[in-house]
Amino acid sequence: MKELLDVLVVGAGLSGMAAGYHLQTECPTRTYAILEGRGASGGTWDLFRYPGIRSDSDMHTLGFSFRPWTGAKAIADGPSILEYIRDTARTYGIDRKIRYHHRVERASWSSETSLWTVDVRRTDTDETTQLTCRFLLMCSGYYDYAGGYTPDFTGAERFGGRIVHPQQWTDDVDYAGKRVVVIGSGATAVTLVPELAKKAAHVTMLQRSPTYIMSRPSVDRVAKWLERKLPGKLAYGATRWKNVLLGMALFDFSRRYPERTKEFMVGQVRKLLGSEFDIATHFTPSYRPWDQRLCLVPDSDLFEAMKSGRADVVTDHIETFTETGLELRSGKTLEADIVVTATGLKVMLLGDVKLTVDGQTVDIGKTLNYRGTMLSDVPNLAISLGYTNASWTLKCDLVCEFVCRLLNHMEKKGYRSCVPRVREEGMPLEPLLNFSSGYVQRALDQLPKQGPKAPWRLYQNYFLDLLGLRYGAVEDGVIEFSRSGTTRHTRRSASPQPATRS
Ligand SMILES: Cc1cc2nc3c(=O)[nH]c(=O)nc-3n(C[C@H](O)[C@H](O)[C@H](O)COP(=O)(O)OP(=O)(O)OC[C@H]3O[C@@H](n4cnc5c(N)ncnc54)[C@H](O)[C@@H]3O)c2cc1C
Repeated sequence: MKELLDVLVVGAGLSGMAAGYHLQTECPTRTYAILEGRGASGGTWDLFRYPGIRSDSDMHTLGFSFRPWTGAKAIADGPSILEYIRDTARTYGIDRKIRYHHRVERASWSSETSLWTVDVRRTDTDETTQLTCRFLLMCSGYYDYAGGYTPDFTGAERFGGRIVHPQQWTDDVDYAGKRVVVIGSGATAVTLVPELAKKAAHVTMLQRSPTYIMSRPSVDRVAKWLERKLPGKLAYGATRWKNVLLGMALFDFSRRYPERTKEFMVGQVRKLLGSEFDIATHFTPSYRPWDQRLCLVPDSDLFEAMKSGRADVVTDHIETFTETGLELRSGKTLEADIVVTATGLKVMLLGDVKLTVDGQTVDIGKTLNYRGTMLSDVPNLAISLGYTNASWTLKCDLVCEFVCRLLNHMEKKGYRSCVPRVREEGMPLEPLLNFSSGYVQRALDQLPKQGPKAPWRLYQNYFLDLLGLRYGAVEDGVIEFSRSGTTRHTRRSASPQPATRS
């Protein structure tokens, strides 16, 4: 007999803990377990070990809705975030539900039994095992844990120094007194540069093109004031809403007035660095604000490192690695002892779990996103994915709440399965994300598509999601429920297969 669980959560990071909390609070009679492929919890915040690892969004929105962030800083360091996640798990007994070293490899839905059969590999013993569940909640993040993305750099094998990707940073990377080149200018690069500059001989941030970078105080003074005046939970809630609304307003303003936003953001950098810096070349992106994720730096640390001369920025293309550094397209050379390839992640949805529905392989790239949580024609499965323009946890809390509402509704009505179905013919499809960032563009084929309007549209808007996921009707005429265990969830021929609009 295979074990049967009501809900199986895959992944014990931020999302997995949120899932555990919501399930045991809002669906207390349901059994659940969290399967985690690694030997530790925390996901991203345990995996990444590079110096200075920190959040790039504020902890009042990256923190859980149900557990106030009480740390001194709103932009917090990685170890504090990891401790917060683990402490949350301990506080609510979620840690007792986690099964470590359990990597989910395959999940097969049977419409006959209305169950998922899940193939699990023990990453410590290599044993395989199977269990079954009524509902799968994927909290497996959005990137490949096996390694980050590194382009093929010509001549990399000639380089006599060390090349390290931030995802594979280990304590033995000794950068004290060394010349370091960090390739990239995304969130990881702007975190690393000021931190490495504290001990390195010199750090160069080498970018192909500039990124929007905004500075923000690491301590939120309004939050601190609210904490002094209001009880803990109330103060946290108020700060959370302040930050949600400010973030939404900034995003909305950027979309409506990209040129004015660009002027403002570039102007801020000019103010911080001084006009002797070549802001036009190094800090003026060619794309519109929010066509890629904004980079946030706390207390201008990146700019301070540059002003002090311990770090600088070069905007150029790599022609080749040499024995001692890098040769650039302009003919310039950069000497280096260590090159850090902050060149991004490899996007991977569903933790590489292979899905089948009644024996048919699910091609995620051919499914449609439903309410930002489920996939068309895939029964009893939800995915916890966060925002690209706001903190991850805001969305994953809402996804978990929605899953609990769905489960409770199904129990009340005696339904055994639910599946979003596309009924309109010829619905125009679009890529799920309209970010121009390399990591998104490289992954578009693997991501579900979105339609022109709800529930098939991914709005990236907390307010709309709050209305839809927390208060919207569960039975919306799109999601199909079934009581019998025998209805086969075959694909409807009405599902649209039109050309994807780009
Ligand atoms: C360096 C870095 C900094 C970031 N900073 C921010 C930030 O400041 N603000 C923000 O909003 N977002 C940020 N993000 C995005 C970040 O990933 C989310 O904030 C959040 O941590 C994601 O949590 P998660 O639990 O959904 O996924 P993860 O943290 O990725 O955890 C997923 C877990 O699932 C496990 N898993 C995956 N596949 C399987 C499988 N098949 N079987 C079993 N277990 C599996 C993994 O081992 C992992 O433990 C950052 C990301 C990175 C990489």
